[in-house]
Amino acid sequence: MSDKFAKLRHELAIANRILANEGVIDAFGHVSVRHPDDSGRYFLSRSRSPEVVEPNDILEFDLDSQPVASPTVQLYAERVIHGEIYKARPDVVAVGHHHAPAVMPFCISGDPIVPVFHLGAAMGAIAPFWDSRDEFGDTNLLVVKPAEGASLARTLGKHSMVLMRRHGATVVGSSLRELVFRAIYSCDNARYLSEAKRLGNFSPLTPGEIEMAQAIYQLPNAQSRAWEYWERRLAKRGGMPAGPMSVAAAPDPSLARLREGAGRLAKAAAKKAVAKKAVAKKAVAKPVKPRRGKRK
Ligand code: MN
Repeated sequence: MSDKFAKLRHELAIANRILANEGVIDAFGHVSVRHPDDSGRYFLSRSRSPEVVEPNDILEFDLDSQPVASPTVQLYAERVIHGEIYKARPDVVAVGHHHAPAVMPFCISGDPIVPVFHLGAAMGAIAPFWDSRDEFGDTNLLVVKPAEGASLARTLGKHSMVLMRRHGATVVGSSLRELVFRAIYSCDNARYLSEAKRLGNFSPLTPGEIEMAQAIYQLPNAQSRAWEYWERRLAKRGGMPAGPMSVAAAPDPSLARLREGAGRLAKAAAKKAVAKKAVAKKAVAKPVKPRRGKRK
């Protein structure tokens, strides 16, 4: 893959790890970003736990979710979620799919998730509910067929998040950072909603509040402030992937081998010279031998 996308793959690896670090995704779940120069393609990791995704794990797919280069590694089975949403939603730049503990009670009970605090407005007014049985009957609940991905995309419609019965949720964003922001705060919102329901009194934000709160969180400063916070938390745990700069700056291994070889030759030459000197000294100055030993 071209180095042109080294920065983007690095950013996507960080997004994967942030969502893992913040408890949105665990061993499963995945995050993708649309190709910046080709809206008919997207980037997604090979099948790997998001917490350990490296920039080099990230591959390019077409919107039928076929890898652009023939793969030598295992791919995510559910990548049609990404491809079919990119097909249906030209405005979407990033997609994340997760099974976060915060949303699972709603995926099981069918109770709607509604925004109940200011940052919760990031999820939008409502997250529609997709029931795979409506079109496909009994399945293993994974979204693996293109028709299943397309059905999910239809239920998502123009919304920002869709709940998936007894499975999880899929979130979209107009940028990778907005997706991460939305995924994290929609999970916080779901948790607060569960708690508030237990207390017995809750109501959603009004449509006006949702609109005004969204305008605030979409400001570039709010997005970068949150990203910096999550990135720092990840870095504190030693979870950052190797940077694109350090990858680019890494010495050429062939140069290293040359240097190693040169080093060996120099060492051998030095050893030879010392031995030669010792022989010469032995020949001309036998009496100083003990003093030379002491000086060492
Ligand atoms: Mn899943």
